[in-house]
Amino acid sequence: MYEKYKTAEKKFWHPMSSSAPGNQARRLVIARADGNYITDIEGHRMLDGVGGLWNVNVGHNRPEVKAAIAAQLDELAYYQTFDGISHPRVFDLAERLTSMFAQEEMARVLFNSGGSDAVETALKMARQYWIAAGQPGRTRFLSLRNGYHGVHVGGTSVGGNGVYHYNHGQLLPGCYHLDAPWLYRNPWDCRDPVELTAYCIRQLEEQIQFLGPDTIAAFIAEPVQGAGGVIVPPEGYWQQLREVCDRYDILLIADEVVTGFGRTGCMLGSRGWGVSPDILCLAKGISAGYIPLGATVFNRRVAEAIENAPGFGNVIMHGYTYSGHPTACAAALAVLDIVEREALPDNAAKVGARLNEQLQPLSERFDVVGEVRGKGLMLALDLVADKRTRQPIDPTEGQAARIAEEARKEGVLVRPVGSKIILSPPLTLTTDEAGMIVQALEVALERQG
Ligand code: PLP
Repeated sequence: MYEKYKTAEKKFWHPMSSSAPGNQARRLVIARADGNYITDIEGHRMLDGVGGLWNVNVGHNRPEVKAAIAAQLDELAYYQTFDGISHPRVFDLAERLTSMFAQEEMARVLFNSGGSDAVETALKMARQYWIAAGQPGRTRFLSLRNGYHGVHVGGTSVGGNGVYHYNHGQLLPGCYHLDAPWLYRNPWDCRDPVELTAYCIRQLEEQIQFLGPDTIAAFIAEPVQGAGGVIVPPEGYWQQLREVCDRYDILLIADEVVTGFGRTGCMLGSRGWGVSPDILCLAKGISAGYIPLGATVFNRRVAEAIENAPGFGNVIMHGYTYSGHPTACAAALAVLDIVEREALPDNAAKVGARLNEQLQPLSERFDVVGEVRGKGLMLALDLVADKRTRQPIDPTEGQAARIAEEARKEGVLVRPVGSKIILSPPLTLTTDEAGMIVQALEVALERQG
């Protein structure tokens, strides 16, 4: 079956992959999907432990979402939203998001096509806010090492992992990266959550004072770092981060592209930490992969300053052909109905805790598993060459990919990323299915010896 596509496959580049000829080691051609399962073109059915790409939160092939999309296609497949033009679905979704996030005082939405757009929009609008607020010198951004904020120039620049920088030369100036509050690996070798938070917050304050608070526009971070290896900050870190931002009048942008809509066990990752950011970046779970969509949401403070700015200051010279795409909005409204009706954040908390607990023994049984960590239904196995020093395995040697390959043979798709195995299944995962993931990984690790 695959033979049919052998020539065609050479015609496109896989994102985030080597383009060198012959790099087909993890070839997988997916033909269909239903519920929490995917089926490849050879007919192998697998549990989707990756949830598409952290986004198919409501599961695949949901009739309610398909019906909403079909109805919208009949009514109005597409129209733009520039310059006073709109349509009912964009109103419905803006209303829905601002009421879902009313407790964070979220007031305005700018729609876009995905997570990278949502981040780029947040960075540009943060700068516009400061121009509107009469402090145009606030242009710099602070962020965390290991952070991932998409692939546009701004998002890449604030991203804290060199692999996304190396091939692209000079990026955006004025972006400064701080150490992530990561208990397993940090420069202080600190294993105490309270102390580590204190170190990170002190480093942050020193950086702010060094640069000058009146040069800094915003701090951007993920409530739980995803692509960097599911790094869960200590309880209390985000609250202290919010306090520091308030003290120095710095905007706090929560990149909730992965954590938004329930993945960490709460509707927002930041809400789970008891914090209200100034700007939210949303994508992925908003439409659960059915149609691309992103949204950047602004709180009252930011919205009012921009709207009340004199002259050109209140003009939003930013937006996309697909900002507020009606069919994407219709899909999102149907997805959010499911998320709320089925209380998926609660399910993520419950099943995620069970999965985490069941995976823990793997780190005792297998030398290569340094740590199992996660929150809700975002989890990672951190693979190490040496458990004592916590030295990661060499990602170029392909061990994570081999483990994932064996898990796939056991009927579960998991995602190797560098020296980690990432799990981000649909939030509709059942406890039995969590057990299937554990069993497949156990067998896969046994086969590695
Ligand atoms: N921000 C975060 C935290 C992400 O994890 C991602 C993607 O994984 C993005 C932004 C970029 O989203 P997209 O791939 O939809 O552009």
